[in-house]
Amino acid sequence: MKIQLLNSSFGPAQEEQYATCYLINDTIAIDAGPLGLWGAPQQQAAVRHIFLTHTHMDHIATLPIFLENVWNPERDAVALYGHPKTLQDFRTHVLNDIIWPDFVRVASPGSPFLQLHELLPEEIIEVEDLQIQPVAVNHTVPTSGYLITDGRSTIVLGADSGSTDRIWKLAGQMPEPRSVFLEASFPNSMRKLAEITSHMTPEMLAGEVLKMSAVQNVFAVHIKARFREVILQELHALKIPGLAIVESGRIYEL
Ligand SMILES: [Zn+2]
Ligand SMILES: [Zn+2]
Repeated sequence: MKIQLLNSSFGPAQEEQYATCYLINDTIAIDAGPLGLWGAPQQQAAVRHIFLTHTHMDHIATLPIFLENVWNPERDAVALYGHPKTLQDFRTHVLNDIIWPDFVRVASPGSPFLQLHELLPEEIIEVEDLQIQPVAVNHTVPTSGYLITDGRSTIVLGADSGSTDRIWKLAGQMPEPRSVFLEASFPNSMRKLAEITSHMTPEMLAGEVLKMSAVQNVFAVHIKARFREVILQELHALKIPGLAIVESGRIYEL
């Protein structure tokens, strides 16, 4: 599988991750933070399925712009997948005819702007020859991590989350090699805040890695820009085998 964490910084600080969107095999996005401001119109139009982890702004920021960019009455509408509450809240608080038109309501019959797909807990969805399974993780709003496989390898996206268990148990049953994208939002000195906001520090990330079985790659993501230097030092000091800091914009073949 091909996976890329899209750039979310213009200009020189390309490594900073201000918002989250993973692009998989060019056609599937997990979250849409920077998606509507990314690439050429043809690249955006190739993305047909968006899976949301949760509604926080760094994960949905340019989704309305993306939906506008790619609408084409001659094609099937883009499919938006997520926890029922995630989809409902996106519609209620963003597609509310104030922040953005209600694309669900305004579409003419037979020509929708988008298709909404509510995901049941741990229901496996097949799209574009991949199996994608949402698993609840521990954050301040309903949040899904995702297990993704083409049968030959597995990608685990841990989403925004504090310490959690279920997703690692299910990941242990997935095809190898396994690659995990796991957040490290705050430095170790801010563990209290990390726990209150259901995020992780490098130490907490290390604790999650101990729960995983046979993971070949661990990519640290969601590193808050203002703490980047110290978080990177703390991550390197852990000396976790297979741990790397994700490079925004790089295409990984996993
Ligand atoms: Zn969040
Ligand atoms: Zn976030």
